[in-house]
Amino acid sequence: KNNILTLLNEFKDSATARDLGRLLASYDKRPVTIMEVCGTHTMSIFKYGIRGLLPPKIRLVSGPGCPVCVTPSYYIDAAVELSRKSDVIIATFGDMMRIPGREGSLMKQRAHGGDIRILYSPLDSIKIASDNPGKKVVFLSVGFETTTPVIALMVLKAREEGIKNLSVLTANKTMPNALKALIQEDAGIDGFIYPGHVSAITGTAFYEELLRTHGIPGIVTGFEPLDILRAVITLSDNISSEKKAVENHYSRVVEKEGNAVARAKMYEVFEPCDAVWRGIGGIEASGLCVKHKYRDFDAWRVFGIKQGESFEPEGCMCGEVLKGKKAPCECPLFGGVCTPESPAGACMVSSEGTCAAYYKYTAL
Ligand code: SF4
Repeated sequence: KNNILTLLNEFKDSATARDLGRLLASYDKRPVTIMEVCGTHTMSIFKYGIRGLLPPKIRLVSGPGCPVCVTPSYYIDAAVELSRKSDVIIATFGDMMRIPGREGSLMKQRAHGGDIRILYSPLDSIKIASDNPGKKVVFLSVGFETTTPVIALMVLKAREEGIKNLSVLTANKTMPNALKALIQEDAGIDGFIYPGHVSAITGTAFYEELLRTHGIPGIVTGFEPLDILRAVITLSDNISSEKKAVENHYSRVVEKEGNAVARAKMYEVFEPCDAVWRGIGGIEASGLCVKHKYRDFDAWRVFGIKQGESFEPEGCMCGEVLKGKKAPCECPLFGGVCTPESPAGACMVSSEGTCAAYYKYTAL
C-alpha cells in the first residue's frame, strides 16, 4: 500500500507540476483543440486547476465519457416503470438515482415507496436475488468497457448458481464508434486525451485505427496532475508539429493489448448493438446488449419493455456539450434551472458530468 501511495504522490509532485505548468503556459504555436473523452479526466482537470494554466492557444473540451450523462431518458422511464411493480427490486449504482426522466427520477420513485437499492458492485445483486426469492431483481446495467466485464461476471455467476430472479436492464456503451461519430460531427477536435480506465480493457489498437483512417493523434494518460499536464503539452506539440502518433503515457496501467480476459467475459454475455446516446442520438454498434444465449437475464425481454424516444428539457444543451461544441455555461439553464441539487439535464447529475464539473469549480 505504501508503495502505491509513494508512486501516486510522485505524479502529484508540486515542483514538477510548477515546471510543467510554466511550460504549458508558454505554448505559442498553432491553436489546438483537445478533447478529454473521459469524465474522470474532466474532474481531475478542474480539481488540479489545470484549466487555469491553459494558454490562449490551447482549448480543452470535454467529451461523452460519463456513462450517466449519455444514458437516454427512456431508459430512466423504463427503470421507474419497473420500480412501480410490487414484485420488483431495482439494484443500481448511486449516480443513476437523480437522472431526470419524463416522469421524474428513481430518487423520487424511491420516496414514493419503490424498492430501489444502491450497490457498490453489480455482484451484490446476486445476494439480493437469493435473499428475496419471491421478487424479481433488476440490475441497472450502465457503463463503458470498464464496468461491463464485472456485470458480465455477475450474469455468469448468477447462471452458475441457478439464480432465476435476476436480470439486467442494459444501456451499456462502447467508445470506438462514439469517437468516430464525434470526428464525423466535425467539432474541430485536433486530438484526443483517451480514457485511462477504458483503455486498460480495450487496449490502444482502435486509437491507432483512428489515426490511420482519420489522422487524429491522441495520448492515453492517467488521472494525476502530472499525467494530465504532460499529456496536454505533448499532444499540443504533436498536433502543431504534425506528428501523427498515438502515445501511451499510462503504461503503469494500460497495455497495448488491453485486458483480453475481461473482454472475453464481456463478449461471452454481451454483443454489440446500436445504441442511443442521450443528447447525441443513435450511434451504430456503440452499445452492448445481452446475447440470445443469456436471454433469461435480459430485462428488456423478460418484462417486454419497449425502448422509447429520448427527450431533453427545453433549452438543455447536453448534446452540444457532450460533442465538445458548447461549454456548459453557454446553456441558458446552467446554474439557474439546472444545478447539481436540481439537475435538468443528465450532464449535471453525475460528479463526472461536464456540467456538474463546471458548476462545482466555476459557478461558486
Ligand atoms: Fe443540460 Fe443542465 Fe448542462 Fe444545460 S446545464 S446542458 S440543462 S445538464
